[in-house]
Amino acid sequence: MSLGEFALIERFFAEGFARREDVAIGVGDDAAVVRVPAGSELVVAVDTIVSGVHFPEELAPEHVGYRALAVNLSDLAAMGAKPCWCTLALTLPRVDEGWLQDFTRGFRELAIGHGVALIGGDTTRGPLTLTVQILGLVPSGSAIRRSGAGAGDFIFVSGTPGDAAAGLGLIQGKNPKMQSEHDRYLRNRFLTPTPRVELGLALRGIASAAIDVSDGLHADLAKLMTASSTGAHVDLNQLPLSPALVDSQGVARARGLALGGGDDYELCFTVPADRLSAVRRAAAASECSITRIGVVEAETGLRCFDAGHLVTVDTTGYDHFAS
Ligand code: ADP
Ligand code: MG
Repeated sequence: MSLGEFALIERFFAEGFARREDVAIGVGDDAAVVRVPAGSELVVAVDTIVSGVHFPEELAPEHVGYRALAVNLSDLAAMGAKPCWCTLALTLPRVDEGWLQDFTRGFRELAIGHGVALIGGDTTRGPLTLTVQILGLVPSGSAIRRSGAGAGDFIFVSGTPGDAAAGLGLIQGKNPKMQSEHDRYLRNRFLTPTPRVELGLALRGIASAAIDVSDGLHADLAKLMTASSTGAHVDLNQLPLSPALVDSQGVARARGLALGGGDDYELCFTVPADRLSAVRRAAAASECSITRIGVVEAETGLRCFDAGHLVTVDTTGYDHFAS
């Protein structure tokens, strides 16, 4: 990029991240080299976030950095993989050291928390765009797929979906005024979502299928069902809604956001009936709340029930919100 490119990389990206013994060559050469242990498979995902598209332009750089990595950790969580290394392709409109400092802080905090080493990347000039590639490991053959759900399996979701969409609405000023405590909680659920990495690891050998919820629970569960050639019976009364979401939106809108809002980064997964106690133990061990919201059926399609009645759901919670 500019004269300062090398110094910029040295200053912000060469040091200060998790050090791992299995990194043979990290930042500084033409490519990175990592050691993959025998008996493991490499799990790879990449996600790009674009300013003004995936996050509001005014988002604090610290949160941009955090989210750029969080969305990728979430993909590995859904596979039941242990995240190990990442690369970062950074496109910046200009070199702003204060921005880079804050961005790196958010990114680094999460990377260190998960023991993920930054092993390389690319730095270019252009509209603000962040691409993170994440690499992780699973014991060979044990990755959790979308395609493994079978009729009779129970459907679970982690955490409280819908919060992030409400938080984004608040950040964008499209939300009615609400209590500041709820306000802060919901905003943070968008700004610093918790990728369910520990839960994903604990679900290996227990969940028959999994997906991370980034586009809204309804849409992502539908993808899981399609991949598994199955359908779902979803009980709307069981949706885990946070008190902040219900208090601020009312139940109907809260449900719409939980089903249709994006950016939750929760896990939606299926569990055979004979593993129900195992999944409860797994969730407790990973300190993550999980809720049973339905059951897999042989008939394809998603059927949502409210107090026993089949209903057409409003999955455009977020759009509604914006209007
Ligand atoms: P090349 O021109 O050979 O592609 P670069 O000058 O782009 O190399 O990068 C030099 C080194 O710095 C490489 O090891 C690359 O992986 C690393 N790097 C560049 N940008 C970043 C970044 N944003 N984050 C982490 N590492 C980076
Ligand atoms: Mg090179």
